[in-house]
Amino acid sequence: MSIDLVWLRQDLRLADNPLFAGPLGEHLACAYVLDERWLKERRIGAARLGFLWQSLIELRGRLLARGSDLLVRLGDPSEEVAALAAELGARRVRVRWDPGWEETRAVERLAPRLAADCELECLEGGMLFTEDDLPRPVEALPPGFSGFRRRLETVTPQYAGSIPVTLPPWPPQASRGLPPLRWVDVRAAEWSASSLGGFRFTGGERAGLARLNDYLWGSGAVAHYAETRNGLVGADVSSRLSPWLALGCLSAAQVNDALDDWEAERGASDSSRWLRFELWWREYFHWAARQDGRRLYGGATPPDGGEDFAAWCRGETGLPFVDAGMRELTETGWLSNRARQNVASHLVHDLGVDWRLGAAWFERCLIDHDVASNWGNWGYIAGRGRHAKAHRFDVLDQAERYDPQGDYVARWCPELADLPPGNARHRPWRHDPAVFLPPPSLSIQEEAAP
Ligand SMILES: Cc1cc2nc3c(=O)[nH]c(=O)nc-3n(C[C@H](O)[C@H](O)[C@H](O)COP(=O)(O)OP(=O)(O)OC[C@H]3O[C@@H](n4cnc5c(N)ncnc54)[C@H](O)[C@@H]3O)c2cc1C
Repeated sequence: MSIDLVWLRQDLRLADNPLFAGPLGEHLACAYVLDERWLKERRIGAARLGFLWQSLIELRGRLLARGSDLLVRLGDPSEEVAALAAELGARRVRVRWDPGWEETRAVERLAPRLAADCELECLEGGMLFTEDDLPRPVEALPPGFSGFRRRLETVTPQYAGSIPVTLPPWPPQASRGLPPLRWVDVRAAEWSASSLGGFRFTGGERAGLARLNDYLWGSGAVAHYAETRNGLVGADVSSRLSPWLALGCLSAAQVNDALDDWEAERGASDSSRWLRFELWWREYFHWAARQDGRRLYGGATPPDGGEDFAAWCRGETGLPFVDAGMRELTETGWLSNRARQNVASHLVHDLGVDWRLGAAWFERCLIDHDVASNWGNWGYIAGRGRHAKAHRFDVLDQAERYDPQGDYVARWCPELADLPPGNARHRPWRHDPAVFLPPPSLSIQEEAAP
């Protein structure tokens, strides 16, 4: 009896998933391991864990419908997968290559733990390109985004693969299922996003496909992406596909193909081109993470961030535009790109706090946390690692430009909502709207950013 074990990580979907493609064994087991260190070290917060669990539950339903199932365990991923492969007597373990040093190490640590007759197969997928598509080796890719894009713009991106109709049955007597979220983390089980975000994210492949479909064909909001993408309020100002892309409930090729279809019917426009451009930024950070390995995280443990960092996390810096963003982040698990850039710039360049603390906080809070995109974007703003130049934003100027009436601030900082619409709502204050401080000497220049 031949048994295959599929180890799922950031690829929680059935469609266009190379792990389910090609000939499979007579029996198939599918497993996800939640790294216990994420819980112990509080690297995964309630919102992110909740979205992950929804995605796993939905994936289980889809696997069951095709004759398979899902097993979810908690522990050290390499050890748990090795133990499971041994229990099952698996002939092969399949896993997708994920960027990120820890993720790569986990696969490397698994290899020597497997029985001699168990093959470890590491596949690529989920991205626009595979390593074979690259015109030169990964290590030789240009360090900056523009060079990367120039190098690859003549290469045709991967097309999305199909969805399996049936899958091999579950190995006899093998355990299956996932623990209730309440047993894993009661806060995550009880957490719900604030309705002020104006959009409800639901984990899983089905919800991801529905959002893609709605953004392109339902509301058709993609047609205005070029004008709205810097918006701060509203369900449709940007695609909001990031949480599904981050967990692999959707692949980049699926989004790219859908954009091709949309352009074929409605015609290519600045909007469709801008959205594709953003997928390229994602791609760039992924390959950069693969090149950088451990350097992506910036080396040794960062110094303590003190009260400035704590106030930033709480959304109590006294700078309304920043506080609004930080509160939206903790109350919804998501934040627009414009707000991310500003809160990150303020932490690093105005408060002088180490960028790695900000990246770690985002990692805990964001439901779309993606190692390469998060740590890569923080390094880009801080000007660390491969990014020689820092990217600094004048937060007051940005507030006036992107939130001219102060509506965004009023939405997330109710203590300021009674102030007249306009710049009054952006003035720095001391957590008492009556006491305004003179504007701090904030940065002046804004750089071109993703
Ligand atoms: C400090 C900081 C941290 C970030 N952390 C993450 C993260 O952990 N996960 C994440 O997916 N994105 C991250 N981003 C990138 C970006 O902010 C989000 O991808 C975007 O806001 C998600 O909203 P959307 O899906 O509506 O994006 P859209 O504007 O609709 O773009 C479509 C897709 O393109 C990709 N994309 C867009 N902008 C970027 C970018 N700058 N870098 C990489 N990919 C991009 C995303 O997958 C996104 O879903 C970060 C940006 C900053 C400045």
